[in-house]
Amino acid sequence: MEQSEQQADPKANFLYRLRHSLAHIMAQAVLELRPDAKLAFGPPVEFGFYYDFDFQGNPLGENDLQEVENRMRRIIKEKQPFESSHQSLEEALRALESASQTYKVEYAQELVELGKAGEEGLSFYTNGPFIDMCEGPHLEHTGEVPKGCFKLDRISGSYWRGDEKRPMLTRIYGLAFESKADLKDYIERRKLAMERDHRKLGDELDLFCMDQEVGVGLPLWMPNGAVIRDELEQWAREEEFKAGYQRVSTPAITRSKLFERSGHLPYYADSMYPPMTVDETDEYYLRPMNCPFHHKPYDARPRSYRDLPFRLAEYGNTYRYEKHGSLAGLLRVRAMCMNDAHVYCTPEQVEQEFQAIIDMYRMYYNHLRMGNFRVRLSLHDPDSDKFIGNKEEWLRSEAIVREVMQRMEIDFDEESGEAAFYGPKVDIQVKNLLGREETVSTCQLDFVMAERFDLGYVDADGARKRPFIIHRAPLSTHERMISFLIEFYGGAFPTWMAPLQVMMVPVNDQVREYAENLAHTLRQDLFRVEVDSSDESFNKRIRNAVTHKIPNIWIIGAKEMENASITWRRYCVKEQLNVGVAQAHEALRKMRQARMMDNFEDVALPVEG
Ligand SMILES: [Zn+2]
Ligand SMILES: [Zn+2]
Repeated sequence: MEQSEQQADPKANFLYRLRHSLAHIMAQAVLELRPDAKLAFGPPVEFGFYYDFDFQGNPLGENDLQEVENRMRRIIKEKQPFESSHQSLEEALRALESASQTYKVEYAQELVELGKAGEEGLSFYTNGPFIDMCEGPHLEHTGEVPKGCFKLDRISGSYWRGDEKRPMLTRIYGLAFESKADLKDYIERRKLAMERDHRKLGDELDLFCMDQEVGVGLPLWMPNGAVIRDELEQWAREEEFKAGYQRVSTPAITRSKLFERSGHLPYYADSMYPPMTVDETDEYYLRPMNCPFHHKPYDARPRSYRDLPFRLAEYGNTYRYEKHGSLAGLLRVRAMCMNDAHVYCTPEQVEQEFQAIIDMYRMYYNHLRMGNFRVRLSLHDPDSDKFIGNKEEWLRSEAIVREVMQRMEIDFDEESGEAAFYGPKVDIQVKNLLGREETVSTCQLDFVMAERFDLGYVDADGARKRPFIIHRAPLSTHERMISFLIEFYGGAFPTWMAPLQVMMVPVNDQVREYAENLAHTLRQDLFRVEVDSSDESFNKRIRNAVTHKIPNIWIIGAKEMENASITWRRYCVKEQLNVGVAQAHEALRKMRQARMMDNFEDVALPVEG
């Protein structure tokens, strides 16, 4: 991975060499403080580098990092050249053993056994007094490290070779970027990302919880989180209805036969929960995807070309066996609910349908202000056996997708080997707050499943033909989508999606009943409204509403009661507005109706004056 990036981007190449070199420079500095430390691995990684040490009972701690950094800066000033050399296994082992570098000895032997040592022998790099077994590449000399571009970040434990039966090592992490400014920028973004971490905000805003008795990766949505799901789902329903979709509702469990037929069992079993035996003879699986559950209703009745395009939609629950270590909050889970649909169409309709779907993606992402996405066209890898179907069909369907996107003037990159096993896909790639790219949702063109499920339609000429199937899930899974929205919005949702839309804060007890009555009226109109008439001071109650990121605070005092108005304070806007009650109510309706993104400052309230 890093190899190919290097070749593609000479700048990334510099960053890679920089981080690699800094790992050596750090190890050299650490050995000055702890000459007996044994070295393990020290690679460049995303955002920086690390090195693992065995300090043999005398570890460095966080307080020592400053001293290590000081020594690193001295080494950088010395402009030590990085010099490449090669040694035979015998030479290398003799040198490493005499330096008691037992971890390196083990690794050197392994490299030779695996035939990775190369004809010239094992590769070493020397800078100043420091020598390390390493493939490179590095900078020319330590002086090339830009001023202020790195910072030692933290210390953690890690097992040698990631094996908990092997010795526990001390890992020192450093951050490194091309410039001091880039480093500063990253540290700021990381701070923001930590403040906005969806797990942290999910707790604070009471959106979801996890429970050990329920199991890892199985989020439980709290009432506040369920509101956000319901609102997204309602939106999808409306858009899908307008676009000619019909909803179905299907079970999340099935006999193994279905997934054998679909190819999931041969191609996807690693990501599935193990089967359960039912009635002693039958094996049942939880579904990792909804697809075959839509193919069956399609196939349950005879279809003619007049029925196509036939579009089936369902917010379907699916279950995937993700590795324990890869689970992360809502981002990677074992139970999820997907904005799924399958469009069955004739070959003549496929371009138009695909285009309409891509348009729907664009509409959603622009509306949600996630317009800054990258589109990736994921193709099959002709050298891999991960993909079913023949080559001509792959090339043909890939060409269709490519052409549609070109016609729509969508910028996209192509990537080989990332397709679904049954067809090419379009991935919507969104950067998270740390700048790391994640796939939010995908759309696939499938020419394989109709064949496998023997799906057909009777064409105008009376012949039975195969439909194309488009798989699409623009709003992704609730879990993934909402984890992104929480972080993008910092937990401040627009009025239409917000768990609590209006918090009324009466100034004193005299106006309390008036506020309660107004809240009652709004609730009858299905708005989520509360009155904070707790004993806290007025200022404290305002602060509470702001802490909970409630989009609208309506302040009600004697003056407001007298002229039937409210004082409207928005979460992200400084100025307050005095608005008549009827007009305020109407404004809320408009905001809901248009799904206004009033969590952004530049969106004005729909009120006059
Ligand atoms: Zn190196
Ligand atoms: Zn599907």
